[in-house]
Amino acid sequence: MNKNSSNTMALAPNTSSKRETVCIFGTGDFGRALGHKMIQSGYPVVFGSRSTQTSSLIPKGAEVFSHAEAAQKAAIIIIAIQRQHYDFLIPLAEILRGKVLVDVSNNVKINQYPESNAEYLAQLVPGAKVVKAFNTVSAWALQSGTLDASRQVFVCGDDMEAKHMVMAIVRALGLTPVDRGSLLAAQEIENYPLQLFPMWKFPILLSLGLTAFFFFYCLARDVIYPYVYENKDFSFFIAISIPNRICPILALILLALVYLPGVLAAIIQLYRGTKYRRFPDWLDKWMLCRKQLGLVALAFASLHVLYTLIIPIRFFVRWRISSRIVSQALNNKTEPLNTTNAWLSDSYLALGILGFFLFVLLGITSLPSISNNVNWREFRFVQSKLGYLTLILCTAHTLVYGGNRFLSPSSYRWYLPNAYMLSLIVPCIVLVVKFVLIFPCLDKPLTRIRQGWERNPQYSE
Ligand code: NAP
Repeated sequence: MNKNSSNTMALAPNTSSKRETVCIFGTGDFGRALGHKMIQSGYPVVFGSRSTQTSSLIPKGAEVFSHAEAAQKAAIIIIAIQRQHYDFLIPLAEILRGKVLVDVSNNVKINQYPESNAEYLAQLVPGAKVVKAFNTVSAWALQSGTLDASRQVFVCGDDMEAKHMVMAIVRALGLTPVDRGSLLAAQEIENYPLQLFPMWKFPILLSLGLTAFFFFYCLARDVIYPYVYENKDFSFFIAISIPNRICPILALILLALVYLPGVLAAIIQLYRGTKYRRFPDWLDKWMLCRKQLGLVALAFASLHVLYTLIIPIRFFVRWRISSRIVSQALNNKTEPLNTTNAWLSDSYLALGILGFFLFVLLGITSLPSISNNVNWREFRFVQSKLGYLTLILCTAHTLVYGGNRFLSPSSYRWYLPNAYMLSLIVPCIVLVVKFVLIFPCLDKPLTRIRQGWERNPQYSE
C-alpha cells in the first residue's frame, strides 16, 4: 500500500458541505494570517477585537465585531491572543459556554507555566470545549504559502467532536492534522516549536568533545614532539594534516557509535530474556539520535575526502617528492617498486572509496523523501546490512592505512600510539560483538525474544 495515501486524503479538502462561520479573537499577525487562509478556503470569518473599526490590514471579506458579538456568530472561536491576556475571556464565559475554543498560543520558554496554555484556557472558561491546534504553524508561513516544511498540525483536546471539527478545518486549509490525544498533550505540543535541534545536541556535543581531544592529541604527537626532540617546525600541520587526521577518526568512531547501541540492546535483551522491559533512559536517547550521529559521521567523512583530494597540490607534499627525487638523482640510486606497499596503498584507497560510497548511500536513504518511499524491510536492509558493511569497509580502510607499521614501536611518541589506532577501538568492539551475536546459539534466542517470546514472563514489567 502506498504509505502516502493517508496524507493525500488528508490534504483533500471536503468541498461538498458549506463552510461554517469561524470566529477569530485577535486581529494580530497570526489572527489575520489564519483569517486570510480561512477565507481563501471558503470559510466565512468574523473577528472579535477590542476595536471594532476595520482597517486595510483585516483580510478582505472578514467582519470585525466586539468579542461578545463575534462569539455569538460562530461555534468555533480561535483565540489568537497571547496567554497573558486571557483574563478578558472570564466575563465572556456565559457566551462561550458550549463553544469550541481553539488555543493557538505559544510560550517563549519550555515549560514556562505549570500548566499548558490550553489547560489554563479550559480552567478560565470551564463551559467551553478547548482544543489545542495551529501553534506549530507560523503567521509568515500561512501568509506566504510556504507551508511545505510544516504541513503537520498537532491537535489535542478532551472533546472528540470538538477535536474533529478543528481537524476538518485543518484539512480544509490544505494541512495535515495529527491527533495527539487529550488536552494533557498540550504542554508537549506547546514545547515543540521551542526546541532547538533536540536530536542533534548529543551528536554535536560528542563530536565537538572528540574533535578537541584528537586535536590536542595530534598536536602533541605531530607538532610538539618533533619540535622538542628533532627541532623541526611542523606547526603548519594544524591547517590540513591534523584536520585530515581528525575527520576520518571521527567519521569512523561516530559510525561505530551508530551501531553500538543496537549491539548493547541485543545484549540487554538476551540477558533479560524479554523485549518487554524498557531500556535504560540513556540507551533509549542514544538510539533515538542514531540518524543524526550517522549524518555527522558522514559530514566528517566528506571533509576527509575533500582534504585528501588536495594532498597532491600541497606545498609540503610537492617539496617532499621533489627533494626525494633530487636526492635519488644525486646518489645515483633509484628505489625499486615495492609491490607489497603498492598493494597496501591501492587496497587502502579502494576500501576508502567503497566505504565512502556506501556511507553516502546510507545518508541518502535516511532523508525523509527517500525513507518514506521504501518499505520497512528495505529500510532495515540498507541501514543495518549495508550499514555494517560500511563499518567493516571503513575499519578495514583504517587498518590497511596502518599497514606494516601498524604496531611498530617507532610509531609511538611519548608512549602515545598513532591517533588512527585509537579510532579503531570502538568499531572493532562493535564488529566483534556483532560477529559473536550472529552465532546461532545467540541469534536464535534473540530472534525469538524480538518476536515476543519471554524466558521469565513473570519478571517483565
Ligand atoms: P500579536 O500580533 O501580538 O496579536 C495579538 C492580538 O491580541 C492583538 O493584535 C490584539 O488584537 C489582541 N490583544 C492584545 N492585548 C490584548 C488584551 N489585553 N486583551 C485582549 N486582546 C488583546 O500576536 P500574534 O503574533 O498574532 O500571536 C497571537 C497568538 O498566536 C499568540 O498566542 C501566539 O503565541 C500564537 N502564535 C503566533 C504565531 C506567529 O507566527 N505569530 C505562530 C503560532 C502561534 P485586537 O487588537 O484585535 O484586540
